[in-house]
This record gives sequence, structure tokens and C-alpha cells, in this order.
Amino acid sequence: MIVLPPTARAAIAAHVAADYPNEACGLLLGRRQEHRMVISQAVASTNIAEEPNRRFEIDPGLRLRLQKAARSGTDQILGHYHSHPDGAARPSKTDRAGIYEADLVWLIAAVKQGQLDGIAAFMPHADCGGFDEIELRES
Ligand SMILES: [Zn+2]
Repeated sequence: MIVLPPTARAAIAAHVAADYPNEACGLLLGRRQEHRMVISQAVASTNIAEEPNRRFEIDPGLRLRLQKAARSGTDQILGHYHSHPDGAARPSKTDRAGIYEADLVWLIAAVKQGQLDGIAAFMPHADCGGFDEIELRES
């Protein structure tokens, strides 16, 4: 289970709306607890993909900066989020082909006519061959 607090949800909602009709993406910081992960912050990235209306790619420089910061703090990189403009909140074929790290959570935000229209969370299989949906609690 992954917990998404209202502040992080609002940050994602604003970002995916602002970048519409392109895909928006960013990183999720938070803590791993025994039976759940708790997001503390959603950090917006520039989508550096060549076709940002069809794909997403997180800025590796942002990830590096957050990883360095995580070493001295309590929050770790739990995963990332991206949006599906006028699509569904579930992994696309492109997403399934783009899993490289089995331990990062994927949040996928559906955007309809420029407004957030639902978020779902997925965990890659250990072999990076697909996803399982995990419970997303908005609190
Ligand atoms: Zn996607």
C-alpha cells in the first residue's frame, strides 16, 4: 500500500494540468515503513522525452540531486509519477516496455480535458516484465 497525502496529490494535480496535453512526470519522495510506503513530496521533473506528448523521461540530473539529498535525510526516492493525457490511469504498452527498476512505484495519473481524473499505483514485477496494481490510499 502507498499513501498519498493531499499536499502531494495537489502538487501532482497542478503539474499534470499545467503540462497537458503533454505527459507530465516527476519523482516521489517518502518513507518505506513495514507494510506501506508514505509519500511526503511529489517533485516535478521536466519531461525530457523527445515526444513528450506520447512518452515521459525524468531528468536524470533531478534524480541525482534528490538521491544525494536522500542520503542525508529520512526521505528516499520511492518511485515516480507520470500522466496519461486523455488516457487511463493504468500502464500503457510503452510503460510495460519501459520498466528498468523493479523497486520503484509507478503512479499513473489520468488527465481528462486538462484536469486530473484519477490516480492509480503500480509495482513492477521482480523481472520487470509487467505490473501489479497496489492499493493507493489518499489521506
Ligand atoms: Zn504511461
